[in-house]
Amino acid sequence: MHIRSANFQISAPSLAACPASKLPEFAFIGRSNVGKSSLLNMLAGGKDLAKVSATPGHTQLINFFGVNNTWTLVDLPGYGFAKTVKKSAPDPFQEMIAGYIEGRANLACVFVLIDSRHPPQRIDLEFVEWLKKGPAPFVVVFTKSDMAKANLVKTNIELFEGKLAESREELPRVFTTSSKTRSGRAELLGFIEEALA
Ligand code: GDP
Repeated sequence: MHIRSANFQISAPSLAACPASKLPEFAFIGRSNVGKSSLLNMLAGGKDLAKVSATPGHTQLINFFGVNNTWTLVDLPGYGFAKTVKKSAPDPFQEMIAGYIEGRANLACVFVLIDSRHPPQRIDLEFVEWLKKGPAPFVVVFTKSDMAKANLVKTNIELFEGKLAESREELPRVFTTSSKTRSGRAELLGFIEEALA
């Protein structure tokens, strides 16, 4: 898929504030520093779209970018830093993410970003386990593959899949990417194109 245009539309603090749109949405999420901004910019072809969301203080918003006037790229806030909230209290941050993923009618697919340099991390596994129970289709995207030896990346992916296989036979589709070398870009955009067809 050729990216002709990718334009920031709006930031929303909750599901209720998300724009009314019927275009299919492809949402990206992962823990902070996983390489999400870099990946989104790489996918957009260097259009620097995630810059908007990188402004401090604006990171806990859902950011919408219209692509080619046919689909919407959704930048979800990074999970894994709202840990100071007491367990008993409702966490508005997690509620925003859950609200969007469980409640957005035109959500086509969630891309869960995982740092390929590390063995499976509990927070990522917990998030994927939560996704599995919900209605949204999702795939797993391993990031920063240029930063580790190919063998280590392969091992980490296999370990992650092994963990997921413990509770479900059918594994989600997996992509391996690097924002630096742009590897995985054609595969991800091809996947989106197929989903749109
Ligand atoms: P975010 O917090 O998830 O948006 O992560 P960023 O995209 O800001 O990336 C965090 C850091 O990792 C930055 O210093 C990036 O330059 C670096 N980074 C992200 N992706 C890659 C990648 O694929 N390869 C390399 N070499 N560095 C990356």
